[in-house]
Amino acid sequence: MSEFLKSVYRSFDKAAQFTNIHKGLLEQIRVSNAVYRINFPVRFGNSYRVIEAYRVQHSHHRLPTKGGIRYSPTVNQEEVEALAALMTYKCAIVDVPFGGAKGGVKINPRELSDKQLERVTRRYTMELLRRNFIGPAIDVPAPDYGTGPKVMAWILDTYMTFKIGELNAAACVTGKPVAQQGIRGRKEATGRGVYYGLREYMQLKSEMKRLGLTPGTKGKTVVVQGLGNVGSHFARIAHEEGEMKIIGVVEMEGSFYNPDGIDIPALLRYRKEKGTIEGFEGVQKLPKQDDALYLECDVLVPAALEGVIHSGNMKKIKAKIIAEAANGPLTMEADDFLTKKGVAILPDVYLNAGGVTVSYFEWLKNISHVRFGRLEKRFQEQHSGQMIDLIEEITGKRVTKRDKQFIIKGADEIDIVRSGLEETMVTAFYQVYEVFKRRKHVNDLRTAAFITALQKIANDYLALRIFP
Ligand code: NAD
Repeated sequence: MSEFLKSVYRSFDKAAQFTNIHKGLLEQIRVSNAVYRINFPVRFGNSYRVIEAYRVQHSHHRLPTKGGIRYSPTVNQEEVEALAALMTYKCAIVDVPFGGAKGGVKINPRELSDKQLERVTRRYTMELLRRNFIGPAIDVPAPDYGTGPKVMAWILDTYMTFKIGELNAAACVTGKPVAQQGIRGRKEATGRGVYYGLREYMQLKSEMKRLGLTPGTKGKTVVVQGLGNVGSHFARIAHEEGEMKIIGVVEMEGSFYNPDGIDIPALLRYRKEKGTIEGFEGVQKLPKQDDALYLECDVLVPAALEGVIHSGNMKKIKAKIIAEAANGPLTMEADDFLTKKGVAILPDVYLNAGGVTVSYFEWLKNISHVRFGRLEKRFQEQHSGQMIDLIEEITGKRVTKRDKQFIIKGADEIDIVRSGLEETMVTAFYQVYEVFKRRKHVNDLRTAAFITALQKIANDYLALRIFP
């Protein structure tokens, strides 16, 4: 069994012993409910390539199932199973009423042209359709490593071609471009959620005291690995809203460092334009690929792939907090070693749940056929305006134009999405933290997060009366 799947099972088993869930029910929660493995041909020019792909629906206790699609040359069944299982627990932790799923296509998107990628995506979607593995009430994919809004738009278009007249067709996939029935705030959602979770943790006085830090994010030093969708948005939001100091970044082209803090928006603009960090003036390049991972810093944010911190490099990690933006970035040995060393590990299964949270909002928008804020925005503005007029009349004092504009502004879709995401991440954080504080023998947040998830899923099964 792969290291990654083993580590998910181990977290499950560790948490299960703290619950009184029936053994049979635990087994049902643990296993993948349906695994679809496909090999399909795609024509590239004059030749054909056979593509290996998967869709795993880990848990049918709630429907639809939900989870991203990964395009990577290292995709394999056990990796997809591990990721699908994490989705089930993630959805439960943040009260998203879905079962977990994941998809994987074994290709390197960097080596394919847009046309080739589109062909692979459309064929993969057709394969899912043939087996009833996609649909607004069945299984709803989203972006993951190597995929984004463009791929989601191809999936929607293919689905709609075969499901003419299906009223809720747009809800068959999330993470779509805003202009194609997506939702504002989905692209940044995972990174933003990581920031909210980290911010809540860093406000805890007792935890910060244990780590030798003052509470709050301001001025704290951070290293980020991976400036893709999750890492880049996290870095920007931590820099702009958290006033954190990003001192190091690791990408495919190497490790980059600036002890005074990197100008993240400028670096992201530069990388978007040039396709690399090489040559960006505000940083110095470190000699080896992963050198920045080992910098002295307050927070390390792995936001690339699983297994990047392992027995071979765990002893070099100097961060006080590891915020798991990626799925499974620590191997079991690294997790044990760093936990014992006193490093605070904010687990993936909670911390990167912002993506699926806003995907849920997008699905809600699609099945309700109305943009958030559309109905109430003007009413809110008029109501607040009248309140201010009344206050001015009673007090005889004037509210400044700037304050007035700020107070009467009704909520747009992006405001509602961000506030819903913040509410979700903060509420889930305290639910997990409560378990961590209350349970005597639970000494890590990952186990606390899994206990939270298992209890919610078991309650669902019990409500269904499948188990006594
Ligand atoms: P992405 O493809 O947009 O970005 C990944 C980035 O990591 C790329 O820029 C890539 O060059 C870089 N990278 C890969 N290997 C690296 C290495 N060894 N060192 C340094 N950089 C490396 O992917 P993403 O969507 O940002 O996903 C990243 C992680 O977050 C994955 O583990 C994914 O499962 C997880 N995740 C993503 C979402 C989402 O909404 N996209 C949601 C939850 C979890």
